[in-house]
Amino acid sequence: MAKTKYQFNPESISYEKVEANFKTKIINVLKHMASSSVLAIAMVVVLFYFFGSPKEKALARENKQLLTQYTRLNTELTKIQNVLGDLEQRDDNIYRVIFEAEPIHSNIRKAGFGGVNRYGYLENLENSELVISTAKKMDIVAKSMYVQTKSYDDVEEMVKNKFQMLSSIPAIMPLAIKDFGRISAGFGWRIHPIYKTRKFHDGMDFTGNIGTPIYATGDGIVKMARSERGYGKRIIIDHGYGYQTIYAHLNGYNVKRRQKVKRGEVIGFLGNTGKSTGPHLHYEVRKNNKTLDPINYYFNDLTADEYDSMVAYAANTGQTMD
Ligand SMILES: [Zn+2]
Repeated sequence: MAKTKYQFNPESISYEKVEANFKTKIINVLKHMASSSVLAIAMVVVLFYFFGSPKEKALARENKQLLTQYTRLNTELTKIQNVLGDLEQRDDNIYRVIFEAEPIHSNIRKAGFGGVNRYGYLENLENSELVISTAKKMDIVAKSMYVQTKSYDDVEEMVKNKFQMLSSIPAIMPLAIKDFGRISAGFGWRIHPIYKTRKFHDGMDFTGNIGTPIYATGDGIVKMARSERGYGKRIIIDHGYGYQTIYAHLNGYNVKRRQKVKRGEVIGFLGNTGKSTGPHLHYEVRKNNKTLDPINYYFNDLTADEYDSMVAYAANTGQTMD
């Protein structure tokens, strides 16, 4: 409220009320408001400075909560990293070893975390160390999980492939143990039956009766079933994975070219065709066109003892039947 001003009038010899003009009134009001505002602002500043606004207090509480949660998150991420580390170890040292695959190189597992400082924008925070460490861990965990998932896809594929591989690689004898008379010649340098000279025998000869069933020693496709010079009636099976088996001097066929065969399926019959000195089966195992000792490819059929005696026997047999 504005003060009422009086002025002495010498003419009327009395004090008269001075009517302030409009401009003066406004100025008075503004002066009054300004002084009140300065006081109010000063009070607010003092209050906020020493006690904080209610909103600030809420934010501070929330900040404290976030810090606690962040610390927990960071600890949990460390645990997850350790679990992932175990999975990676197992993946590299067990699964990949079983399936003869190379372990995943650490460069791939840890790729993308060097070089540029990707966390620079977090550096000016009050708790930047904690925030950056957590962000880093999250990135590493995400990346590791991605690589690990991919690796399990590979392993799954290898398992499928392995089953197929195991059923394809020659692993039994080409005729039943009860059906063959003896192994007349093993793999290696032997006396040739006709020329009587030393010659490399690149298969194994089993004597037996004409017509004895001959089995496919692994899954595959019949690549050839026809008469060849020297070999007589001969079957070649392509097993994939670089493996082929050859069955020669047969009496007859039970399969045709391009036919799919399963391990243990009768493909033909023991005979005496081609350059042969008596009824027998000449059996070869080849990998990538190189002949291998078939004795190492009977593992599904023979016990360790049977294998030992077969090795001893095959080594001592002197003359092939070719
Ligand atoms: Zn032979």
